[in-house]
Amino acid sequence: MNSDQPAGAAGYFPIFLRLHGEAVLLVGGGEVAARKLDLLLRAGARVQIVARALGAEVRAVVDAGRAEHIGAAFEPALLQGRRLAIAATDDHALNAAVAAAAERAGVPVNVVDDIALSRFIVPAIVDRSPLQIAISSGGAAPVLARRLRERVESWLPQGYGRLAAFMHARRAKVKSRETGGLPRRIWEQFLDSPGAEAALRGEDQAAERVLDGLLAGEAMRGEVYLVGAGPGDPDLLTFRALRLMQQCDVVLYDRLVSPGVMELVRRDAERIFVGKARNQHTVPQEEINAELVRQAQRGRRVLRLKGGDPFIFGRGGEEIETLMTHGVAFQVVPGVTAAAGCAAYAGIPLTHRDYAQACIFVTGHARKDGKLELHWDQLARRGQTVVFYMGLQTLPQICAALIEHGLPRDWPAAIVVDGTAPTQQVFTGTLDDLPARIAGADIRRPSLLMVGEVVKLRDKLDWFRAGAAAR
Ligand code: SAH
Repeated sequence: MNSDQPAGAAGYFPIFLRLHGEAVLLVGGGEVAARKLDLLLRAGARVQIVARALGAEVRAVVDAGRAEHIGAAFEPALLQGRRLAIAATDDHALNAAVAAAAERAGVPVNVVDDIALSRFIVPAIVDRSPLQIAISSGGAAPVLARRLRERVESWLPQGYGRLAAFMHARRAKVKSRETGGLPRRIWEQFLDSPGAEAALRGEDQAAERVLDGLLAGEAMRGEVYLVGAGPGDPDLLTFRALRLMQQCDVVLYDRLVSPGVMELVRRDAERIFVGKARNQHTVPQEEINAELVRQAQRGRRVLRLKGGDPFIFGRGGEEIETLMTHGVAFQVVPGVTAAAGCAAYAGIPLTHRDYAQACIFVTGHARKDGKLELHWDQLARRGQTVVFYMGLQTLPQICAALIEHGLPRDWPAAIVVDGTAPTQQVFTGTLDDLPARIAGADIRRPSLLMVGEVVKLRDKLDWFRAGAAAR
């Protein structure tokens, strides 16, 4: 061991070591030692600690009988019969002495944060037990390895361990019952099926039924993912939305889903546009519902991608009702709704201690006869924020009605166009003058009307430099 050794993975042999019930010597009792102790215990090691003093964390573990404090002073003889040794003290001379003694005794040793003294290094890990991902830069750039770890951590569903455990527990069964092809093929199919999604969610019984079906030679069943795509900025997608977007066979989307979001859908997926521009329902809702069922019954993984949140003016409820009627498996993934997205990016908090103790989401979409029937007496109140979806066309009607039902003419209101996108525009004014202010603007993008005193906060809280990314 010396520092002339070439850094980098080339100098290291990656392994996973079975430590269950094995003896490990840990030198040090502080916070750094506590972190290593935790890892060792998770691997099931029997840890014996040498330390002059124990910090609170290590002390707690020792008091609970989960590790043993065997002395204050390190002696080479203590290495006898150990599988591993870890030195985690802030005393460099002591760490070096432990390392040298371990080398002589042939016990692999790690000195925390000292690659030159270490025989083995501890990788950054992503733990989805029984699945573990270890990342090492061979000591060349530990910070980079940690960054990568964070990425994998966020990308890999928390339920992955459950899925692995589910598959492990049924390995023998698949092996014995499989008749036609190979167990591997069954598992491949299973991972593409709603069964895998069920296992990720911890619904083992549902997952088992799918697996049994595959073993019985049944055709693969499809599934619908009803996913909220958020207001536009692709960064606002949830992890789950992104994962399902990348594993679908076909996507049904409408005008509200931004191009940036669509780019993240799996390249090979078939794309079906189901329209829905205002006053021009390209594909009637019943048709969409039926298409979802048809696609799923063909055994496909169907992504129904919707702007914002599927359950807020998104008719998501109707879609899953149809799916339930036809016994099609589905899951619903919430998204950032336009009100939340626009509020954040326009610097207009939806609630505020002084100005708004409540917030109402309401549709400004007029009936076929052009009438807007809303509970105006509830909407025209102080101390609350009212957000109108689909309210651009009816803006003059809305403002007039709110004034008529008691709000002052100079009550603040704002229109947010294309919220969260680089093309976002915000028009502020009052119930009295907002319609005139936007009259010449020729707005063609989705727009949200926000009414309430919180709109005034934008003077101070405007932070999003719209257009900055586009320029
Ligand atoms: N389910 C969606 C709303 C669908 S209704 C959601 O949760 O956001 C469609 C209306 O949403 C549009 O008429 C508009 O009022 C609003 N909207 C959606 N995206 C928007 C955006 N990026 N900026 C402004 N308004 C938006």
